[in-house]
Amino acid sequence: RAFRAQIITLFPEAFPGTLGLSLTGKALKEGKWQLNTVPLRTFGEGKHRNVDDTPAGGGAGMVLRPDVMAAAIATARASQHAGAPLIYLSPRGRPFTQRMARDLATRPGVTMICGRFEGLDQRVIDQFDIAEVSIGDYVLTGGELAAQVMLDAVVRLLPGVLGNADSTEEESFSDGLLEHPQYTRPAEWQGRPIPPVLLSGNHGAVADWRRAQSEALTKARRPDLWQAYKDRKD
Ligand code: SAM
Repeated sequence: RAFRAQIITLFPEAFPGTLGLSLTGKALKEGKWQLNTVPLRTFGEGKHRNVDDTPAGGGAGMVLRPDVMAAAIATARASQHAGAPLIYLSPRGRPFTQRMARDLATRPGVTMICGRFEGLDQRVIDQFDIAEVSIGDYVLTGGELAAQVMLDAVVRLLPGVLGNADSTEEESFSDGLLEHPQYTRPAEWQGRPIPPVLLSGNHGAVADWRRAQSEALTKARRPDLWQAYKDRKD
């Protein structure tokens, strides 16, 4: 059974977006995962298919109506595999990490809600016990890009999507460290040689050099990751 992404959005034309390209696009065409959009506008009220209204208590912007969103959620879940989590992309959510991507890739699918305007009515979040996930500490105009970011990270971890040559085992975060620097031909460019150890043919020495570089980079750039890595090793 292929991993199934159900996306509730006001802008279905935003999908598959970059997910239709390269490895994720090829895997989509090959049926290694499925992507369905559930257009929120279809569930809108009245002639104008209204999906939003002014915030209770006043203030700027508009809020997505709970009844309209609930109808979209019911439809999205009716054709979703059992056990697929329901996620609302939100700047207030739990920060998205590689660990969450790995966990999602083991699930039968995911249903994602892309917010717009000031976001969802709190009651619909409570009613469906929706998990809020953020892709970072900044505010986007809508959840569509955030959903694509998450799906890109998840889909490349699905079985058979990456070839063996593109193993995910040695990239950043897989072992709690940032990845070492990468080089390719030419052997010298603008007076800058490739570090000689990488051309030595000595696999042990290459591995040691890469590990040392990974550790130094992580220590310098991400003290938070470095601390967690050391705590795990001790
Ligand atoms: N009023 C909201 C707040 O301050 O938390 C911001 C709403 S934002 C303008 C509109 C929508 O974009 C959100 O409902 C959410 O779906 C999406 N969004 C914005 N920033 C995001 C982020 N960092 N991560 C995930 N989704 C985000």
